[in-house]
Amino acid sequence: MAALDGLPPLRDVIQRHGLDAKKALGQNFLLDLNLTQKIARTAGPIGNHTVIEVGPGPGGLTRAILALGAKRVIAIERDARCLPALAEVSKHYPGRLTVIEGDALKVDFEALAPGEPVRIIANLPYNVGTQLLVNWLLPKTWPPFWESLTLMFQREVGLRIVAEENDDHYGRLGVLCGWRTHARMAFDVPPQAFTPPPKVTSSVVHLEPVANPLPCDVSALERVTHAAFGQRRKMLRQSVKSLGGEALLAKAEIDPQRRAETLSVEEFVRLANTL
Ligand code: SAM
Repeated sequence: MAALDGLPPLRDVIQRHGLDAKKALGQNFLLDLNLTQKIARTAGPIGNHTVIEVGPGPGGLTRAILALGAKRVIAIERDARCLPALAEVSKHYPGRLTVIEGDALKVDFEALAPGEPVRIIANLPYNVGTQLLVNWLLPKTWPPFWESLTLMFQREVGLRIVAEENDDHYGRLGVLCGWRTHARMAFDVPPQAFTPPPKVTSSVVHLEPVANPLPCDVSALERVTHAAFGQRRKMLRQSVKSLGGEALLAKAEIDPQRRAETLSVEEFVRLANTL
């Protein structure tokens, strides 16, 4: 059955271009066009946006983003085998898809579409997903170059991204995301939706930047969250001992008997600013 966009079904594309999935590249492809559309729609309006996608693979999500009317898509793919398949998509949507071959970790994202409204949408390779997210949360300037991030992660990572205090999944990533963004869990995707199926459930999360994050030095925040969550079951007076322990906590007006996962983002920021 032909796909609604008039391009060949993804299964045929994968077969014709010999795109058997490589585990080392985190290749779990989405072939269900309803699902790729659902992910693209989660990003919000994209008609005036440049959408940046990491890891387009055979192009399923890319096609959904283009079919939904993105003004332009810039897709970064490491696996050269995918380029001919993506060239077919590009030909179908003249002038709207630019593919960059390379490692997304080495790309200067801020320089890709200067001055244009940008949304990032991606079914991320599991081995570089968290690092990319952290990089996007810590750009050179704020507000960031992106208006939103709509990203697929392993569910476990998704839960850490949206976690707030007093949640077992709350940790360094939750504090960073909570400090700089409004993050929400959009929906889960079961393993069977992918080819080949991964071992675990995945989740799509959607993040939008807060306009004015509480002023805080990133490295100080990282030091306190690293120490506090490094010994998350211990009382703070013990876990942040190397940073000043009880004296630091007293100055920040935080009870030394509390544990890391009970502190709100605001309290972590206060602790970092007291360092
Ligand atoms: N977007 C496709 C989909 O949803 O079916 C493929 C998603 S698959 C989970 C991840 C993709 O990221 C693969 O195509 C893989 O080759 C690519 N990839 C892996 N590491 C990468 C990296 N460092 N930079 C850019 N792309 C990468």
